[in-house]
Amino acid sequence: MSSYPKSPLMGQMMSKPMLISSIIEHADRYFGKNEIVSRRVEGDIHRYNYSECHRRSKRLANALRQLGVQLGDRIATLAWNGYRHLEAYYAISGSGAVLHTINPRLHPEQISYIVNHAEDQYLLFDLTFLPIIQAIAAHCPCVKGYIAMCDRDRLPTDGKLPNLLCYEDLIDANSDDFVWPVFDENSASSLCYTSGTTGHPKGALYSHRSTILHSYASSMPDGLNVSARDSVLPVVPMFHVNAWGLPYSAPLSGAKLVFPGPQLDGKSLYELFEQEQVTFSAGVPTVWLGLLTYVAQNDLKFSTFKRTVIGGSACPPAMMKTLRLTYGVEVVHAWGMTEMSPLGTAGTLMAKHRDLSEEEQQAVLEKQGHVLYGVEIKIVDDAGQELPWDGKTYGNLLVRGSWIISSYFKGEGGDVLQDGWFPTGDVATIDPDGYMQITDRSKDVIKSGGEWIGTIDLENVAMAYPGVLQAACIGVFHPKWDERPLLLVVRKPGAEVDKQALLRFFDGKIAKWWTPDDVVFIDALPLGATGKILKNKLREQFKEYHLPTA
Ligand code: AMP
Repeated sequence: MSSYPKSPLMGQMMSKPMLISSIIEHADRYFGKNEIVSRRVEGDIHRYNYSECHRRSKRLANALRQLGVQLGDRIATLAWNGYRHLEAYYAISGSGAVLHTINPRLHPEQISYIVNHAEDQYLLFDLTFLPIIQAIAAHCPCVKGYIAMCDRDRLPTDGKLPNLLCYEDLIDANSDDFVWPVFDENSASSLCYTSGTTGHPKGALYSHRSTILHSYASSMPDGLNVSARDSVLPVVPMFHVNAWGLPYSAPLSGAKLVFPGPQLDGKSLYELFEQEQVTFSAGVPTVWLGLLTYVAQNDLKFSTFKRTVIGGSACPPAMMKTLRLTYGVEVVHAWGMTEMSPLGTAGTLMAKHRDLSEEEQQAVLEKQGHVLYGVEIKIVDDAGQELPWDGKTYGNLLVRGSWIISSYFKGEGGDVLQDGWFPTGDVATIDPDGYMQITDRSKDVIKSGGEWIGTIDLENVAMAYPGVLQAACIGVFHPKWDERPLLLVVRKPGAEVDKQALLRFFDGKIAKWWTPDDVVFIDALPLGATGKILKNKLREQFKEYHLPTA
């Protein structure tokens, strides 16, 4: 892959390709007894350890070989976070095939589109997703077989499903005598499609090398900071951007892994946090909302939970404060995207911040943070000119690095890079210390009288107001200013919120002219397949909305 010149004097170090199979081999050999605990689709709790996980992964790899799976073939999964999914992660990528994780929250039509686009040969699925398989099977001629991730006695008896195979039968029928093949580290390892709110989803095709580098970098103390002393519960799904790499970084570090399966409600999560002495977790803000509501309503505390990474959308400062001040949980605000494997930045303090006040430290931590080594960022104007790092000037955020795509799978969307940089579609500021703060998605920015209003700041202020559960701000048509902000609010159960008082709450917190023109209370915000608020749906819903005239 490298097209760089060779020095006449090359280093004399071993050149062992960086392959995903080496992670599970390492976890087996050095952390073999460390536990993996899963809440299963079957409802019970399953426990085993890294050695057993490795053995079963090798059995599955043998099974895939028997089925004729070759290097580079795409094998899909439609599954929750659980031990069988972890085995599939290692068996598929480890044997040189490509793990294609599918987000079950996508519409079946989108799912059959990406199965066909990826040309998946086999599809492994949790029983929860049987209706999806039934809906797509007739439209996916490339799939040679569907592997139900269950015991034989639970195998669906739907005669209409062609080539239905039983996961546990495959495991039982194959030996764990398997030597992981060695191949070029730049070979494709896994594939994840973007959530595609407009147009077809596009595939980000990761390599073994990019995955290992991302796992190393993201495990560092100012990243996920995963260690052999941690009990890690990834709430973030393995079906979207590989659960932010935790299925790799946890075994790499020897951390205990705790998988929540399909039960992501506050009560189920809280029980698992306590029973399995979880110290570290990761998820999108909407998941924490459910957990924190349950914990507050039942007057509970966490006994071991110390640190969480929140990203995927902006973490509201109010949530960060509640976790830190009420529950003693450190929040690391992280930013990234499917195209970036996903991690780009994480918000932690430097030594120079140690003596700052609580409020000043909080202001640093609210930003999306500092790059991980291996990622570079810059902000540019619409003409591509680089903008200053003054913490105030905002521009289009570009990235480059070893775990960022150079193009989409099969070249969809053409040449996506700008002078070797990937345009993220986010608008951000960068301060003189290199801390980046997202102000908006470029398509969500409100353009008022030729000036830009970032909606994240407005939402953060609204969510700090008592009685506000969730808030989203969108631009709606205004005859004089083109667009003005409309604030949509979901109230906490039983709470009253006075519209004018809420609008007065913005005074002094943002530029006066940014203040929303109006507030509408709604029952729920539409969420997309990855837990993000679907602002395009809200814009559609409120496109005829008449703002009050001053
Ligand atoms: P996805 O590819 O589905 O993971 O979405 C990536 C997008 O999510 C980014 O380009 C951002 O717009 C948004 N995003 C991710 N993390 C954050 C964050 N911490 N704050 C604000 N937006 C975020």
